[in-house]
Amino acid sequence: MEYSDASFTVDLVHEERGLAFDIFPSRNTTVGHTLVRRALPKRQRRTISQWCFADHFGPIELPPGEAAMEVGPHPHIGIQTVTWLLEGKIIHRDSLGYEQLISPGQLNLMTAGFGVAHSEESPAKAGQKLHGIQLWIAQPNSTRNGEPTFEHHSGLPQTNFDNATATVLIGNYGNTTSPSDNDGKIVGAEISFAIGESILELKSGFEYGIIVLEGQAIIGTKVVAPGMLLYLGKGRNELPVYAPQPSTMMLLGGEPFEEPVLMWWNFVARTQSEITEAYQAWQGRDTRFGKVESGLTRIEAPKPYWL
Ligand code: MN
Repeated sequence: MEYSDASFTVDLVHEERGLAFDIFPSRNTTVGHTLVRRALPKRQRRTISQWCFADHFGPIELPPGEAAMEVGPHPHIGIQTVTWLLEGKIIHRDSLGYEQLISPGQLNLMTAGFGVAHSEESPAKAGQKLHGIQLWIAQPNSTRNGEPTFEHHSGLPQTNFDNATATVLIGNYGNTTSPSDNDGKIVGAEISFAIGESILELKSGFEYGIIVLEGQAIIGTKVVAPGMLLYLGKGRNELPVYAPQPSTMMLLGGEPFEEPVLMWWNFVARTQSEITEAYQAWQGRDTRFGKVESGLTRIEAPKPYWL
């Protein structure tokens, strides 16, 4: 089958079966010198399963004397943060006492639970490259008021299929399961494509989103490139992807998450009063968030608009 015929068929299948296929532009901001494309949350698409935040940063290369990332101590509640790099390095420091250098292909997974604080910074001001993504997973009620934890995985399992390799960060993909702490209800995988067509294996009960980090993916007749979120909804068992050049994407998915997610600044909760308590604890330097041993300046919380 010619590629063009196949892609036309994919579009027809989306339409006939009423499957979601929505492309949203990311919102661009800069943090320091670095371009950040915020793919989630969007007004029209707040979450994909428990995935509630996605910032794609870089690629950037800075001259000596400049730091690509300097984010001082700040708090989180109710989420797991996933840090994943394609280029460069970041040092994570948190209020649990962990100091961890992360490199490409490694996973930092911080579980905030009832409260944690951390800083994220470039290791040296010496001509750095930086390219990566930070994702947040909304914790369910069953764990979101639990103890904070931190995990670093220096290598993750991979699985090859067609012209692609999937690296499994969270949950399982195909027959491959990440060693990271998760309940199997969500998946997060980096998929790198050589030129050609590959068929992604999906679970029909999961909803999915795709964020392209490098190159481009042609799905149906649409081109998906950096700076976009493709929302796929649920109901698919597979998805053909054509890569016209070597490309890398993040596949995010999971069971639809029914708990209401209220996000405000770095806090993810259910109610305004929960966020007010977290705000007051951080501003009051309460022991709830502990202390981060960092040379960077602590980030003060903005006052919630309802106070
Ligand atoms: Mn953070």
